[in-house]
Amino acid sequence: MENKTEAKSEEDGIDKELFQKIAKEHGTPVFIIDHEKIRQNYREFKEHLPTVQAYFAVKANSNPEIVKTMYKMGASFDVASFPEFMLVYENIKHLPEKEKQDFIWDKIIYANTIKPKDTLELLNPYKPLVTYDNMEEIKKIKNHCPNAGLVLRVRVQNTGSMVELSSKFGAHPGEAVDLIEEAFKAGLVVEGISFHVGSQCTNFNNYVQALNLAASLFKEAESRGHKLQILDIGGGFPVKYNPHVKSFKTLAKKINSEIKQLFPPDVQVIAEPGRFMVANACTVVAKVVGKSVRDGKTCYYLNDGVYHTFSGQVFDHCTYPIKAFKEGEKKISATFGPTCDAFDTISLSDELPELEIDDLVYAENIGAYSIASATYFNGFPPAKVVHINQ
Ligand SMILES: *Cc1c(COP(=O)(O)O)cnc(C)c1O
Repeated sequence: MENKTEAKSEEDGIDKELFQKIAKEHGTPVFIIDHEKIRQNYREFKEHLPTVQAYFAVKANSNPEIVKTMYKMGASFDVASFPEFMLVYENIKHLPEKEKQDFIWDKIIYANTIKPKDTLELLNPYKPLVTYDNMEEIKKIKNHCPNAGLVLRVRVQNTGSMVELSSKFGAHPGEAVDLIEEAFKAGLVVEGISFHVGSQCTNFNNYVQALNLAASLFKEAESRGHKLQILDIGGGFPVKYNPHVKSFKTLAKKINSEIKQLFPPDVQVIAEPGRFMVANACTVVAKVVGKSVRDGKTCYYLNDGVYHTFSGQVFDHCTYPIKAFKEGEKKISATFGPTCDAFDTISLSDELPELEIDDLVYAENIGAYSIASATYFNGFPPAKVVHINQ
């Protein structure tokens, strides 16, 4: 019995006593961010991809304390809006003016290929590094942000990734080098090439193919007189949501050997991991606020749901199994969020012991694309955030 309980808590990977205490102290729903786990993820990334600078994709979880922790570890940042840019810039504000200007490309890439004119104007004084993937963007950048350095994003295979991005972003490989030439003709400078293999990419071949494509574009650009400096391998690094996901170490080995083989040693390689840094670092604790039996199945109504922390079930195509702190024989139950919409269904098949009103439940690995897209729908605010191991 003793052994069994231990194995279980290890598998769950959270300090159950502490998390229940936090829920009592702060109320529910409460979103708990473990900063030690974020630091571990960053260290793991750097251990296996030592020559790649990690630009944390802020959109995965833009909590300012996460940005601070990542900054202290030495991370750089991928931002996709002016508010995200400023959120990161706050952290480098204290640097001397001169150093800041040299520094900014090392610390921030603006990796949204589509930028409104007014955003470009706001960005221009910072001499930002920005991505683009079309002709209209070259014209806008030339007119509204001529101080920018450019990175061309190309379309690559997203096969098998949980979230597909290639239908919206990336220049067709056949147009890529023309778009690089057009930018130079406009008086701008293209620094490199980027791609994104799709989020939660478990098909490692996507990276191999994308790196080969990027290498051939580097060569073609050089043959036309444009030597590129930056290779941006994007995000997509998979999280072990389940045991079937192959290890990051295996992927990193592949990436390292491809890069070594395909690119000259002086190319600066950067990546934009989002999910990888935060997914397993956060847990949400919610409360059972209602209970019924419908068609023979026990239904629990929680005070967090699909319009809130569980929004990743919609936007991120992810699922977060609900677990109980209570022990007991489990049966298939339904879990719903608090709003008046039937769409607010977390799961029709969670395995839960018999629960009562006011019992606490939790969901792990819910740090990426979750609270970031929570709404205020129906008057229910997003979960309160609590930090541990900061
Ligand atoms: C969302 C996004 C990322 C982060 O992707 P993950 O799959 O979370 O690592 C990186 N780069 C760009 C351009 C993105 O849009």
